[in-house]
Amino acid sequence: MTTLVMKFGGASLGTSAGLAQVLGIIASESQYWAQLVIVVSALDGVTDMLLEAAQLARIDNRRGYRRIAANLRSRHLALIDQLPLDRPDRNTLQADIDRLLSSLLDDCQTIANNLHEELSAMHIDAVVAVGERLSARIIAALLRQNGIRGVAVDGAEVLVTDDVHGNANPFFAPTSQKVNDALAPMLQRDMIPVVTGYIGATAAGATTTLGRGGTDYTASVISSVLGADELWIWTDVDGMMTADPRVERDARVIPRLSYVEAADLAYFGARILHARMIAPLTEAKLPLRVKNVFSPEQAGTLVSADPGGRQAAIKAVTAIQALALRRPASGSMAGVTRLVGNTLFRTLGMRSEVLIASQSSSSSFLCFVIPTSHGMEGLEHLQRALGEKMAEYPEKMPWTIDSVALVTAIGANLQRAPQLLSRVLAGLGDIEIYGMALGASNCSVSVAMARKDAAKAVAGIHDLILRSGSDSA
Ligand code: ASP
Ligand code: MG
Repeated sequence: MTTLVMKFGGASLGTSAGLAQVLGIIASESQYWAQLVIVVSALDGVTDMLLEAAQLARIDNRRGYRRIAANLRSRHLALIDQLPLDRPDRNTLQADIDRLLSSLLDDCQTIANNLHEELSAMHIDAVVAVGERLSARIIAALLRQNGIRGVAVDGAEVLVTDDVHGNANPFFAPTSQKVNDALAPMLQRDMIPVVTGYIGATAAGATTTLGRGGTDYTASVISSVLGADELWIWTDVDGMMTADPRVERDARVIPRLSYVEAADLAYFGARILHARMIAPLTEAKLPLRVKNVFSPEQAGTLVSADPGGRQAAIKAVTAIQALALRRPASGSMAGVTRLVGNTLFRTLGMRSEVLIASQSSSSSFLCFVIPTSHGMEGLEHLQRALGEKMAEYPEKMPWTIDSVALVTAIGANLQRAPQLLSRVLAGLGDIEIYGMALGASNCSVSVAMARKDAAKAVAGIHDLILRSGSDSA
């Protein structure tokens, strides 16, 4: 029994043209695979709007969040207006949309009335989850209308997570049980479950979300607990690229990556994949393909245990924001690492990770990576929180906090190939380097520098990748 899980992101779902592609892809793959499971994100931009609504609720701006709810209503209704749905399906969908948006208003109201942080975090997740709940229903209806038995499934009913609201982690054993209990009977009856990505629930039933871009993670968890044969992530670019194509215009698709390379690429800033999604696939040895909905005939990127190609290569370069702590004189880093660790965990719900630490007789330097899923606000938020904490103990904490850029070169066995490492360094030219770290995976090298130097560093390393040609051949 062959099973394929396919995830569709917001960019492909937002327009009727995108939806037509999605429908065509599902219809054609359903001919080849015995079982199909679809996982969907909210429509493009919807999660941002929902987060904004929740923030407006926190400051009790009722007009603000009501305006957003009204916008969301007209946007989703306009979309279903363009779809070829019959009257009963259209009416049910409209009723669903209204019900979901009214629960959103209730949650916003609760947030507005309640200043308690923990409770608000719970209601914020309930607000944000509405985006995927809306889109899964729309896709399922569209499939049914085209003779495919699509059924919307709520991720909160199958993904059991911890209670880190906004960045929750699934528990695999209970999730496996629930996913199999809910989906197996549907699959046996030739139905296609359309699961909401990004959302889960605690054992007590409170809705949680898995962090921005979390639909990828849902898709990877579901495919691994179902024992699927492959996972395909459909997006609006041709695959995983040698650099961010918005910055490096000549960026190319990378045909093959190993799991570790893909994980490093995601972790160090390729926004295309959620960083935590690779681990479940690695264990299950489940191949992942990243493909473009707008040109499905292209192979895209294949991620598997085998990196393909040469023994050692530079395949991609990324740049992300990081937070650096510097202290003019050297001194113990233990205390400050713990302090930052606690603050990171509390403010962003992420475990601390010192990426680069260096100590000389004249100074100490620590660099922490902030996942792109936390956005620019994440960085500013954390910087402020840390500043306040340090101000409490000025004598013990004479550290300065800076935001820096972390430029990373990624490729199989990079660290075992001294000639490649020296080419990476040469690619940096005369840029001042604050520190350098080799990733635990043996396939990444990260360099911390001033933010103003990042673009030049990325261009320099990307040039090397293109010139060597080996890596993308
Ligand atoms: N809609 C969510 C987000 O924007 C999850 C996702 O798109 O994967 O982060
Ligand atoms: Mg994404």
